[in-house]
Amino acid sequence: MLPVVALLGRPNVGKSTLFNQLTGTRDALVADTPGLTRDRHYGIGRSGDRPFIVIDTGGMGEAEAPVESLMEQQSLRALEEADVAIFVVDGRQGLTPADEELARAFRRQNKPVVVAVNKAEGQARDAAVAEFHALAMGQPRAISASLGRGIVPLMEEVLSHVPSREGEDDWHEDGIRVAVIGRPNVGKSTLINRWLGEERMVAADEPGTTRDAVRVPFRRDGRDYVLVDTAGVRRRARVEEYIEKLSVVKTLQAIEDAHVVVALVDGSEGVTDQDASLMGLALEAGRAVVVAINKWDGLSPDRRERTRTEMDLKLPFMTFAPHHHISAKHGTGVGELLASVDTVWEAANRDMPTSELTRALEDAVSRHAPPVARGHRIKLRYAHQGGKNPPVIVVHGNQTERTPKAYRRYLENYFRQTFSLQGTPIRIEFKSSD
Ligand code: GDP
Ligand code: GDP
Repeated sequence: MLPVVALLGRPNVGKSTLFNQLTGTRDALVADTPGLTRDRHYGIGRSGDRPFIVIDTGGMGEAEAPVESLMEQQSLRALEEADVAIFVVDGRQGLTPADEELARAFRRQNKPVVVAVNKAEGQARDAAVAEFHALAMGQPRAISASLGRGIVPLMEEVLSHVPSREGEDDWHEDGIRVAVIGRPNVGKSTLINRWLGEERMVAADEPGTTRDAVRVPFRRDGRDYVLVDTAGVRRRARVEEYIEKLSVVKTLQAIEDAHVVVALVDGSEGVTDQDASLMGLALEAGRAVVVAINKWDGLSPDRRERTRTEMDLKLPFMTFAPHHHISAKHGTGVGELLASVDTVWEAANRDMPTSELTRALEDAVSRHAPPVARGHRIKLRYAHQGGKNPPVIVVHGNQTERTPKAYRRYLENYFRQTFSLQGTPIRIEFKSSD
């Protein structure tokens, strides 16, 4: 399980800036996607090689709103979801009564909180943090979120409050780890039941805290899989028809733990913004994805057509992933869905020799040359594979950093076709020798 870190504090102290700093540009989509929660953003950050989930309460309402309501509605909810919090304060403005009030509320929760004194650039560190000792929440840390200063030691301290569970990831089961994600009620449990059979679900139903991960191995058509999910999967066995709230943290945990993500959509309701956001999270994490539109049974031709159109309109960034129309309830299409899991996992791990990649690059360029930038033509000379899962393709040449977006997309599609990179995100990196 990844540690969950909440960013708390008054508006304008720099929480969003810190969020972006921690998650990096690669998670920009997380912050930008509509429809998840209005008042919280979620992303994945890394400290050294230790990943963690960040929750930002950035959209924490208007500065004029009463502090109590800010605290109760946003901070405390985020704190509840978190293992540890960073309480961001403004070093330029100094300690305010609102900070003190927040500190009182946070102290009542039994969660570790680290105070980060932001905007501390250009100030002596001791002077910047001095007055914040009054918050009585340990040694405050001076940082500059916008310049990225002080972040590394801050995160080391923050994560030191969460025991790193060594050995936890010594997972020896073979098989592709599959996470089924989707909004509440789309049919995740029903699909998992289909794959596992009822008995396995009962077997997985062991007592534990809600944050426990469940990994359930199963075998299908001679191939091994491990279902990765959180306690949510077990719920249906106990409480019939109880509709769970969407938990972004649980979804992120499952995504992070998985090899392949199966994204379920409720075909009877069509595609929602939340569906799009959840898939965005999987892509940002670099996971291979298979999309399944569930409850296809009994849909009118009209509804089917509308759902198809919505897929194109709302999920244009998912066209590279295989789509399946299934009925988890009747079992229609669930075997083919699993076969696609294999396909995309193979694609995510494809070996692409330098010679073949370079040939593909040459072909792409000769069909459609890159544009001229600042009077010089961009030259793309050769390519090599920089990584797998997701595939990273490193393109070398001159002025490559000027390659426009449209051309990058063209190259991505070209590589995708040439190497059958179905269902996996691709990262293309450009290196220049001038
Ligand atoms: P939030 O409301 O707490 O999420 O605050 P934002 O991240 O939106 O930042 C509020 C303002 O403070 C913005 O204008 C930021 O550019 C600025 N800011 C954030 N971090 C720093 C910093 O480290 N130094 C300075 N000088 N300004 C900062
Ligand atoms: P979860 O919250 O995503 O785990 O959703 P569930 O698996 O609990 O399913 C929610 C509801 O949708 C239940 O009443 C299921 O019986 C129903 N359901 C699930 N899959 C299908 C399907 O393929 N077709 C139809 N018609 N109903 C389904």
